[in-house]
Amino acid sequence: MSAVPQSERPELSAIREHMIIGGKPWAHGQGEPLPVYDPATGKIIAHQAEAGPAEVDAAVRAARQAFEDPAWRDMPPVERERLLLKLADLVEANGNALARLETLNNGKLLFLSQGLEVGAGAQWLRYMAGWATKISGETLNVSIPFPPGLKYQAYTRPEPVGVVGAIVPWNFPLLMAIWKIAPAVATGCTVVLKPAEETPLTAIRLAELALEAGFPPGVINVITGRGEVTGAALVAHPGLDKIAFTGSTEVGKLIGKQAMDDMKRVSLELGGKSPVVILDDCPIEQAVQGAAGAIFFNQGQVCTAGSRLFVQRGIYEEVVSGLAELAAAMKVGSGLDPETQIGPMVSARHRQRVLDYIASGKAQGARVLAGGTGGTGNGYFVLPTVFADAPPDARICREEIFGPVVVAAAFDTLDDAVAHANDTRFGLGASIWSNDLTRVHQLIPRIQAGTVWVNTHNMLDPHMPFGGYKESGIGREHGRAAIDMYLEKKSVCMAYPAG
Ligand code: NAD
Repeated sequence: MSAVPQSERPELSAIREHMIIGGKPWAHGQGEPLPVYDPATGKIIAHQAEAGPAEVDAAVRAARQAFEDPAWRDMPPVERERLLLKLADLVEANGNALARLETLNNGKLLFLSQGLEVGAGAQWLRYMAGWATKISGETLNVSIPFPPGLKYQAYTRPEPVGVVGAIVPWNFPLLMAIWKIAPAVATGCTVVLKPAEETPLTAIRLAELALEAGFPPGVINVITGRGEVTGAALVAHPGLDKIAFTGSTEVGKLIGKQAMDDMKRVSLELGGKSPVVILDDCPIEQAVQGAAGAIFFNQGQVCTAGSRLFVQRGIYEEVVSGLAELAAAMKVGSGLDPETQIGPMVSARHRQRVLDYIASGKAQGARVLAGGTGGTGNGYFVLPTVFADAPPDARICREEIFGPVVVAAAFDTLDDAVAHANDTRFGLGASIWSNDLTRVHQLIPRIQAGTVWVNTHNMLDPHMPFGGYKESGIGREHGRAAIDMYLEKKSVCMAYPAG
């Protein structure tokens, strides 16, 4: 670690190397602890325990015990709301250290850690806090005809689904942890969260802050370790009622099948290959900035990254050359440097994966207009890359790269744009860039995606349901839809003699 005093590096004081199970630090897992890296330098910054079946079992049991404990089960909804609001305050109060820790561990630009992981994280906690007191059932007007002389009163009773196993990726570590925990505890569930092995640090701190806020021990547990070890043991645990997963489509399919074996409830937020469709009335500068923001935000490590760019032929050359110029001028470096525009990939392994995709694009005949290589230094850098003239069946056009790599193509008519946009197994996001309302409204219903943006991309809000069409997932996070995913609906039917 650097020689800078700890008082000047608040993120260092936030590093924890233990898990949180049943409200207590849990230092040991199975086998050797795993290293945690700073992707901007390649240096080890911490070690994490790896939870095996024994630790996973302890965490699920702690969550079950908390779920059944009257201290949580009978807690008035307004108290759950208060706890979530308190947690939001604590996330903000510790925001500086949390944001710096996130950037240190994930590599993302510091202002994104501040604005999204901490800022939006607190916003999501407050939004979901409000739902705790607004969950209600319905009175049902039923017409059961017999036996004669009886009448019926029926209603629905929403009940928390139970113990939730939540598994999240590394691209928005704190925010994704909050996306899972907040609706779960707002409904009265308890949680065992497994962060990604690359980025466990802010989730552990979040669980500590939840205890400080007053959540009873066992309501929020965090276990660490690799997906194929800790994640797989969590998914297989018979004590879970629901699995909430965000990650790749490949792992999501595996988890979905496993969940069906014992009928666990399951929600899956998976990968994408989102199209950016720019119509020929869009001002060039807006088109260039929009396309760049869609793909280079968070180094392209975004499930809705605008990785396929379709520009109407009349402005294609100008937009694509403008994008290539902008990409070539971007400053690549550490996320802690305020000048940096593109930080590192999260890990050496992921950097190699992105570079392999770039190599495959070149080998399959695509033309590189910008970038196309890794950056310099020990960090896991990849230069922002723009491809054109790729064959439509090239891997870079069809598979999720999850890096700063965009593939551009021209189209002529709206029908062509729709065909291009939908020519993918994914359906998470899409954006349309135009001020021609007629054409925009003609396109929106024809694009197969869970979110369609107009003249913006990647923008989310806790009130907007978010999820995928096709192989991008099952279920919707955020808004009322997220709350419903953590509830069972019980029908109650009471007979009484007709008066
Ligand atoms: P990943 O699927 O490899 O890992 C995600 C999480 O699952 C990690 O915590 C990992 O440890 C765990 N995991 C891996 N194998 C597992 C197994 N066999 N059993 C149980 N858990 C397992 O994905 P990643 O590379 O960490 O993240 C990138 C992916 O996440 C991309 O595909 C991206 O599109 C997707 N993503 C989707 C959304 C969304 O909301 N739709 C948001 C962010 C990221």
